[in-house]
Amino acid sequence: MAKEMNETMTWKELTAGGTIHTSGNAENFNTGDWRVNKPIFKEDKCIQCLLCAPVCPDTSIPVKDGKRLEFDYDHCKGCAICAEVCPVDAIEMIPEGQDE
Ligand code: SF4
Ligand code: SF4
Repeated sequence: MAKEMNETMTWKELTAGGTIHTSGNAENFNTGDWRVNKPIFKEDKCIQCLLCAPVCPDTSIPVKDGKRLEFDYDHCKGCAICAEVCPVDAIEMIPEGQDE
């Protein structure tokens, strides 16, 4: 039963919380489903400066052997930060589903 909390209580008096054992991790959730806009990689324009990869909050721009690869669309949420930082417009944002 939860106790009514007040500012004089110590942590020892707080009601114990629950623990979720089957929460998994972000890799198991396809957060790309949330996307409204989708980044398109224009490989022919890319100068491989790699400015885009570290700013992606979802680690959705893989880099291998010093080169960026295609987007990880399972996890990209379409925030467009990568497109903002690209100095040569090698990333175009389009409405989700328009390229299919
Ligand atoms: S649109 Fe946002 S989430 Fe998707 S790859 Fe670019 S920076 Fe990452
Ligand atoms: S920021 Fe633009 S030019 Fe630089 S690696 Fe990314 S896509 Fe290529």
